[in-house]
This record gives sequence, C-alpha cells and structure tokens, in this order.
Amino acid sequence: MPNVAQFHHDLALLDWHLELGADEAIGEVPVNRYALEAPAPKPVAKPEAAPQPVAPVQAAPEAFDSTPIAQACESLEALRAAIEAFDHCALKQGARNTVFCDGHPSARVMIIGEAPGREEDREGRPFIGRAGQLLDRMFAAIGLSRHEEAADAALYITNVLPWRPPQNRDPLPEEIALMKPFLLRHIELAQPDFIVTMGNPSTKTLRDTALGITKMRGQWGEVLGIPSVPLFHPAYLLRSPEKKRDAWADLQSLRARLENG
Ligand code: URA
Repeated sequence: MPNVAQFHHDLALLDWHLELGADEAIGEVPVNRYALEAPAPKPVAKPEAAPQPVAPVQAAPEAFDSTPIAQACESLEALRAAIEAFDHCALKQGARNTVFCDGHPSARVMIIGEAPGREEDREGRPFIGRAGQLLDRMFAAIGLSRHEEAADAALYITNVLPWRPPQNRDPLPEEIALMKPFLLRHIELAQPDFIVTMGNPSTKTLRDTALGITKMRGQWGEVLGIPSVPLFHPAYLLRSPEKKRDAWADLQSLRARLENG
C-alpha cells in the first residue's frame, strides 16, 4: 500500500462520519435540480441480436489453505509472528493492529471470542471495550482473571479473527475458514484444560454445529479433545441483561468442572 498512514487516517474519518449518522454522500454545494438538463431520452431498443456463444463459467479461485503455515509454528510467539506476517486476509489491510491474545498462556481456561472491535483494534488486545469489561466481571465472579498468573486463577483470551471486520460486521465464512487453522494451532499450543466459546461465530466454528448460541449455551462438548462450553457473548448480555441468569448458570458449571478436574 503506497501510504498506509493516509489509508488509516481516511478509514478513521469514514468511521467517524458513520458514527455521526452521515451514511449518505452529499455534495459540498447545493444542486438546483430544476436547472439541470432534462435526462437524455432512453435509446430505442435495438432489434434482438443473434445469441452469442456463452463463455465457459470460470471456476472460483481455490481458497488459500493456511494449515501448513499454522502447523509449522512451534510456539505461541512463532504463531503470533506468522499471523502478523500473513497477507491473505483482506481484513488485515483495514486493521490498525493484529489482536493475538491477552492473559496468561498457561491458564487452565481459554476464552475464544469473535473478532476485535474498535477498542481492541486500537490497543491490539482482545475484549477491552464495554463487552470486555463485562467479560472480566463475569469471570471474576468465579475467581478467574486475565491479570492472574497462577494457572488455576488465570484466563487466556483470543478471538476467531485477529483483525477487526469493517464496522464490526459479522465475520464472513471465508474469513473464518482462512483463519481457522491458526485458531486450532493456537489451542494446540496453549493446551488449556477448558475452552469457553463466547457467542455464535466462535461456537459454530469450533463445535462444528449449525445450532445457534441460544440452543448451544451451557452444552458441554469437546474441541480438539478439550472440554468446551459455549456462553452468551458479553456484547449480547449488554443488550439482553435478562440472559445474565443463564450466563451465570454456565459460569457455575465451568467453576464446578475446574474444582472437580
Ligand atoms: N468481541 C469479541 O468477540 N472479541 C473482542 O476482542 C472484543 C469484542
């Protein structure tokens, strides 16, 4: 990209306009539409041309397989470097930072969210905005924190995607498919005792289910042989506080597993 700083500056400006509600392009000077020339008459339909031979349909370009790159990483630091150097995902171009992880890699519990939002993109750490603050309170209630170092009390946090999708839109299936090998390797290298998938994209990606989070929450299963439970995403709980009771039940079930295993 010729001028990366300019690109980020323009992107930030567009974000800001959208936040203010300016989502239509309007010219700098008023347009007197009465003074405009009448539109040119529509061209008279030509007599039908003889059918042209149809070009053969081009096969879709084959999706890039990032598995060999991910599997070649022998440490979390190597994995972080490989993701930072990975140029096959367009989201990276619009992101300020690669968001790899937070917390302690030896934690017994690994939390997997969806993708960075605005604050996470700015700071390069997952779950630090409003949803992240709720996540911290939720896990503090069962004695876990990203700031702890002792494996029993610590949390390790990452996301399905390391780059913010524009306007926080949902991740596309092809973006998830491209980055999933890195996520799987991340789990293999961190080797947590338990995995918590937060919300729909993370649960669908790792539990290979089409069921939504409302059906899946609290349902224990396995991810790469590691016991795993889906929870409502804290961003959803901020919008639907009446669901906090369910989230609390699921947190209790995680606490019980930690104590028993
Ligand atoms: N939501 C997520 O899923 N992950 C983050 O890092 C922030 C918000």
